[in-house]
Amino acid sequence: MATNSNSEEFETLDPKDWKQSKALMHQMIEDAFDYIKNVRERKIWQEMPETVLNSFNTSLPKQPSDAKTVYKALQETVLPYPMGNIHPRFWAWYMGNGTISGVMGDFWASVLNPNLGGGNHAAHKVEEQVIDWIKEIVQFPKSAGGLMVSGGSMANYTALAVARNTKADYDIRKEGLKENNLVFYASKEIHSCNTKAIELLGLGTKGLKKIKVNNDYTINIDALKQQIKEDRDNGLQPICVIGTSGTVNTGAIDDLNAIAEICVKEKLWFHVDGAIGAIAMLSPKIKPLLKGIECADSIALDLHKWLHMPFEAGCVLIKDNNQHKNTFSLIPEYLAKNTRGIASGSDWFSEYGLQLSRRFRALKVWMSFKEHGSERFGRMITKNVEQAHYLGNLITKHNDLELLAPIGMDIVCFRYNPGKLHLEQLNAINKEIKLQIEERAVALPGYTTLNGIYCLRCAISSHRANTHDFDDFITNVRNIGNEILQNGILTP
Ligand SMILES: *Cc1c(COP(=O)(O)O)cnc(C)c1O
Repeated sequence: MATNSNSEEFETLDPKDWKQSKALMHQMIEDAFDYIKNVRERKIWQEMPETVLNSFNTSLPKQPSDAKTVYKALQETVLPYPMGNIHPRFWAWYMGNGTISGVMGDFWASVLNPNLGGGNHAAHKVEEQVIDWIKEIVQFPKSAGGLMVSGGSMANYTALAVARNTKADYDIRKEGLKENNLVFYASKEIHSCNTKAIELLGLGTKGLKKIKVNNDYTINIDALKQQIKEDRDNGLQPICVIGTSGTVNTGAIDDLNAIAEICVKEKLWFHVDGAIGAIAMLSPKIKPLLKGIECADSIALDLHKWLHMPFEAGCVLIKDNNQHKNTFSLIPEYLAKNTRGIASGSDWFSEYGLQLSRRFRALKVWMSFKEHGSERFGRMITKNVEQAHYLGNLITKHNDLELLAPIGMDIVCFRYNPGKLHLEQLNAINKEIKLQIEERAVALPGYTTLNGIYCLRCAISSHRANTHDFDDFITNVRNIGNEILQNGILTP
């Protein structure tokens, strides 16, 4: 038998030189802290040059290289070209900033590297506890079912699967879809991931009826009632209404109490897409607006949005634990449980969702809640809501700016409108403003289209933003708009 530690038999993936490897890791931690601390000083976003792009086209490395060289590649080709979402002026789409405690949690999750499919080990208890805390936040009973998932999309998918299986009046797991007449309802402002989920659940796009909205972009309750009645009359089987607590376009919160009432009366499943808004239960300012969320049968939450966890972190809650388990539990012989030891424990997470092997996502959440406390997270949410109104006031103060929707929680939709321009011109000039704001690295606002009107959309979910950021942003929007007008770039 070989005793030479250099021989192939003793080759592992551990460092050859632990001391050197540790020193490199220390350096990475130094650099990572500076990277986050100095985020303001770097460009929020920049285009990758040709040389960098080419570096991503080289073929598979077959031979080892020094870890330092690998780190150098990361420093040169990845770190300078971020998405921008850890920057205080990132208000595009809807994303959190991340936190240092979140980084530490993810680091230890990888060091421990447990598989959260199930088993009798501490990581499983940590995830159970985090899910219990989230139940506490949205006022769900401790007996509810829950699962940490990758994000809002998977959370919604998981909940809608339970809704479908519970409300179909036959064993859909066994039989498959018999008649394709099950119908979900939501407002026109529903997030697209729900449409995808319903398509994948075999109901097709037609399985989701999109109901018109009111002027504030909340679901029109009368139209919802009318549609349910009409569908029943036509032999369809309504099964679920999805309320949104914070729509992606404008942050509108549907009347959750009214939906809950309809669902009780009509015996429908009540699901809340709370990807944006459910965690805002932590903000005393927003909490009253979410009244009724506790009546839901299921809630989808996103923790990498307004809770600032590093991607990926979402959570789904199902009020009736058995219904949750009945949709996903399937225990083959190789996963059969023991009454003692590592393979014991009654509730394995793999029985609550599609994934068997699962990352230790809960750790960063657990460490973050312990470090910051839920009230501080609530204050961050309240601060963003106040900033949205601060931005709204700046917009209404200037005659050449126009607010385009009521400010829903932390989302502000507006455009530059100096007057005398028609719709196409306004859309074109605002698109150009958005691009120049990006290219000049002033900020990263988002955009959307409301009733044919292109607008700049600021989703303010940054714990690092301050009022000066919004002052400077608005100054730039107006200056750039004015420049474009002066230069006559716009063709009539
Ligand atoms: C972001 C979002 C989703 C999707 O969540 P992911 O985490 O991106 O998968 C679903 N619904 C709403 C309302 C959202 O804002």
